[in-house]
Amino acid sequence: QDAQAATLGKQLKEDGVRFAIAGYTDLHGNLKGKMVPIDHFVQMANGSELFTGAALDGLPQDVSDEELSARPDLDRGVVLPWREEVALFLSNLYVAGEEFEASTRNILARQTTAAAELGYTFNLGVETEFFVLKEGETGTDNLSDRDTLDKPCYAIPTLMDNFGWLQELVDHMNTLGWDVYSFDHEDAQGQFEIDFAYADGMTMADRVVIFRAMASEVARKHGAYATFMPKPFADRTGSGAHFNMSLADAESGQNIFETDHDPRNAGLSDLGYHFAAGILRHAPAICAVIAPTVNSYKRLVRQGSMSGSTWAPIFASCGNNNRTNMLRIPLGGGRVECRAVDSAANPHLAAALLLAAGLEGIREKTELEHFHTDNLYEVDPADYGRRGLSLLPRTLGDAIDAFEADPFTREICGEAFWKSFIDYKRGEWESYQTAVTDWERDRYLTFY
Ligand code: GLU
Ligand code: MG
Ligand code: MG
Repeated sequence: QDAQAATLGKQLKEDGVRFAIAGYTDLHGNLKGKMVPIDHFVQMANGSELFTGAALDGLPQDVSDEELSARPDLDRGVVLPWREEVALFLSNLYVAGEEFEASTRNILARQTTAAAELGYTFNLGVETEFFVLKEGETGTDNLSDRDTLDKPCYAIPTLMDNFGWLQELVDHMNTLGWDVYSFDHEDAQGQFEIDFAYADGMTMADRVVIFRAMASEVARKHGAYATFMPKPFADRTGSGAHFNMSLADAESGQNIFETDHDPRNAGLSDLGYHFAAGILRHAPAICAVIAPTVNSYKRLVRQGSMSGSTWAPIFASCGNNNRTNMLRIPLGGGRVECRAVDSAANPHLAAALLLAAGLEGIREKTELEHFHTDNLYEVDPADYGRRGLSLLPRTLGDAIDAFEADPFTREICGEAFWKSFIDYKRGEWESYQTAVTDWERDRYLTFY
């Protein structure tokens, strides 16, 4: 890595980069790190930047433990388009010379390696929905005053009102070579989605982290803020981060989820169905990671106080292009879209668990028993059993219980991270459960 680091450091300096970040993400997928002047790039590449694990949320580290060292992934660094004198390198964490088991990037790396050992490359596209709202206001105001339509989805006037920050963000993404192919105003006032080309799972998980940071920076520059909170408003749809997953033959690059001979007519191969079935088997447990907040479960409903659908799943189910399924096979086939993931999920951890469950399905040739092509929001609860429909967890508390009860999660996360994740998330759930909210006061304070 030394020669590569020296060349890269020199190149960056020549390109005008003055600082580099040895970055990584915490349990939440938020960006952390330390910055070094570019002349210290080689040291940084060799792990000079140390971190006290106990200063981060949910890591199995005590103040007395040895510090974590960040080994930057030199192949996936980016010069920040919104601050061109800084380059960011996401890193794998080490402790006492050993790979730190509990780093979420390492947890994903273990699964992409497992896929590679089977001869597969895991490919991932993530459609991160988010809101951009006015800074300093109540939080219910949108950037555009015209964004008041009852059904604002695809509204071009509002897209144009937001063009300033949108254009800047899209340009930044393309500068990084992400190949944006479409962007729009989504289903809620103030909500947007920018879609860009899929990549291998690690590259894409890194990009989601960078995307969130970049969207926030660009919005701030325009006097607004971006939020990836899953369900900011009860009467609008929430922000999903659909994971579009496929496996390719590692040698030929051929997508092995694609076929013209799918008896269900969705264009998905047998391997693709095994992958989907593997995910469904562990769906309740995985929810704790892909829908990781108290608020996430207010998104996973058929209808809130809003009119119309939420487009978010409520069952552990799979089907064709039908958006009421947790796993959807989008038109054209060849991939499995998990719609339960929301924009607050740690992308590395989410990808690791979904991939691991899918690979288990492939190894065990798990059969998909039910395929749903109708609107699942309308199914009579009396038919759930007959139709093989089981509800996803209804609260973060339920999801954590499912996460803890399924030995699969412990195996994939590793004992130490698994335990501290449960402790952290259970604390979050208990804090919410014991909070007395405005809703309760509005309803009961003068009522009784
Ligand atoms: N906003 C919806 C969600 O919460 C998804 C809408 C869509 O299909 O793009 O997942
Ligand atoms: Mg969308
Ligand atoms: Mg989608």
